[in-house]
Amino acid sequence: MSGTVRFTCFLNAPVLIVVFLLIVAGCGSFRGERGDEDDFDSEANDDDSASSSDEDDDTTLVGLFAPLKVHVLSADLPLLDAASIYTESELSEFIDGCNTIFKPTGVSWEVVEVTIQPALDEGLVVQAVDTGVPAGGVALAANVDLSALLAPTGWDAIVVAQTSPLGFGGAYKCSLAPGVDAPGAIFVPLRSGNGSPHQIRKWAHELGHMMSLPHTPCEPAYEDNLMMSSGCEFADLHRVGLTTEQIAAVQAQHAIGGPVACGG
Ligand SMILES: [Zn+2]
Repeated sequence: MSGTVRFTCFLNAPVLIVVFLLIVAGCGSFRGERGDEDDFDSEANDDDSASSSDEDDDTTLVGLFAPLKVHVLSADLPLLDAASIYTESELSEFIDGCNTIFKPTGVSWEVVEVTIQPALDEGLVVQAVDTGVPAGGVALAANVDLSALLAPTGWDAIVVAQTSPLGFGGAYKCSLAPGVDAPGAIFVPLRSGNGSPHQIRKWAHELGHMMSLPHTPCEPAYEDNLMMSSGCEFADLHRVGLTTEQIAAVQAQHAIGGPVACGG
């Protein structure tokens, strides 16, 4: 009887040790695999939520700050003279509105400086209004002090009172000095043709041009797109949409760090 007991104990001791070691080893490797799986799953979940929740839109897209210098023109010519009607609060409203429109791109316009700049050649603008020569954009560009630009290491907005007498709502000049390798800037008005505050989306449209976006085709598919020209019969009045391709182009231009060059 005792021999049997001893034999059982003799057998059981190593068997138990082996079983114990196997269990420990088994549990260890199980934990390791599970751990890797858990890590992988949580990363996958994070990726999923990044593309689907508003919360992650904020965390993944914040950070593409675009420094913008605002040049408010002062002049005797009412058309050019934004300085006498400009207010900080209205400018903030315009920039905030543009940032809302640009939110899908992750680019956030940050006004780093507002400067009052005297117009350099008002006569040329009068001439452009009266005769159409030179073109309105060229006449406006001649009024900008190139040495005051933030570009090419940032972006510039030239603010005038109105652009409508020149035949357009806003403009992007890809070079402010024809024939010279000068940076570009947008020209945006504070007032529309009837004297009411200009539409924010039109400022955003010019910013879009400065970020390399051309006009969309004049097709119904683009009726709600920010970059559809107002000359298109399908253009929705409140269009602010951006396509995936446009968003990628804006982000690529942001990475360059300044406005798109002519022909770029
Ligand atoms: Zn345009």
